[in-house]
Amino acid sequence: MSDYRIAVIPGDGIGPEIMDEALRTLEKAGSVFGHSFSFTKLLMGGAAYDAVGTCFPEQTVPVCRSHDAVLLGAVGGPKWDALPGPERPEKALLKIREGLGLYANLRPAIMHKALAGACPIKPENVGDSMDLLIVRELTGGIYFGEHGWRDGKFGPEAYDVERYSETEIRRIAHVAFKAAMARKKSLVSVDKANVLETSRLWRRVVSEVSAEYPEVSLSHMYVDNAAMQLVYRPGQFDVILTSNMFGDILSDEASMITGSLGMLPSASLSDGSFGLYEPSHGSAPDIAGKGIANPIATILSASMMLRYSLSLAKEADAIDYAVESVLNSGMRTADIAEPGTSAISTAAMGEAIRARL
Ligand code: NAD
Repeated sequence: MSDYRIAVIPGDGIGPEIMDEALRTLEKAGSVFGHSFSFTKLLMGGAAYDAVGTCFPEQTVPVCRSHDAVLLGAVGGPKWDALPGPERPEKALLKIREGLGLYANLRPAIMHKALAGACPIKPENVGDSMDLLIVRELTGGIYFGEHGWRDGKFGPEAYDVERYSETEIRRIAHVAFKAAMARKKSLVSVDKANVLETSRLWRRVVSEVSAEYPEVSLSHMYVDNAAMQLVYRPGQFDVILTSNMFGDILSDEASMITGSLGMLPSASLSDGSFGLYEPSHGSAPDIAGKGIANPIATILSASMMLRYSLSLAKEADAIDYAVESVLNSGMRTADIAEPGTSAISTAAMGEAIRARL
């Protein structure tokens, strides 16, 4: 029997509600497959600010590092919106990514057949199915470049600097090519090489790395075209590789095509098997405490953790299958229910998934 140690950051808003369902699902999977999970809960974000006066307590990174992987709910909310930028809960997200060296963000966007009705795109343009993976660079680019204010020619001005090194591009390109090898061997690298120097470097390095993966067909696409193609014919994509800011925007766009943010998991990986797993959505303060949030994105994030950090593919498959089976049975939380149909609670959705494990 293996024992896995997981650092758990429930966070704010719906974070604790959806995390509860994910942890109970892991425990159930553990009992079925003969593993045990021990969970160490940590405060981060608004909850940490209220408890200890900072959104990012000093011990966050060392405690996370001493575990096999990290599961995160979501942080932030209107209660903390007035805090100065560097103290805000969202800043804690950037700090934990940087502190744990989580440079590769993997966001699958899968349209489950049972939810095809929620897809805003014409069925003939989606194709048989939509199952794409966005590989986003997470610790470089404009979000981590120099930021500031200064006096400019026309008065006060602000600036944010986009910067990428060859090394940062090369290591994320390898992650994307490896992911493509395990899928349909098709990779689209998205940049803005007609305007940006960083994108020209990006394109050159990705092309160089492609020589090591001759089986993968690589194409390059400008980000404006990629944004358009995603809503025009999303079924054409398998793996998309892109920079931090472009990935932030395109992955939210892709998520809407699947019908609900509440369905989409994500993994943020460093070198080796360590990673942080979280739903793609935020803390949804508008529905927090009502027991109606969709826990599926967090449960599927736990499944990604089993697959990528703990090498428990069979167990991850079982959770993914249980989710699919619940959706096929017609059960829906409010965010994915057709208008006029009834919806089940967060806890009932978690219970239904566990019952199928
Ligand atoms: P959001 O993702 O929290 O919510 C957008 C909409 O989607 C809302 O209507 C919400 O009710 C709905 N939604 C989201 N998750 C859902 C779920 N699991 N089930 C059902 N409905 C769901 O985005 P927002 O409103 O822009 O941000 C709210 C807060 O979350 C902000 O403070 C923001 O900074 C923070 N945020 C945190 C993260 C993170 O922790 N990784 C990511 C994005 C936003």
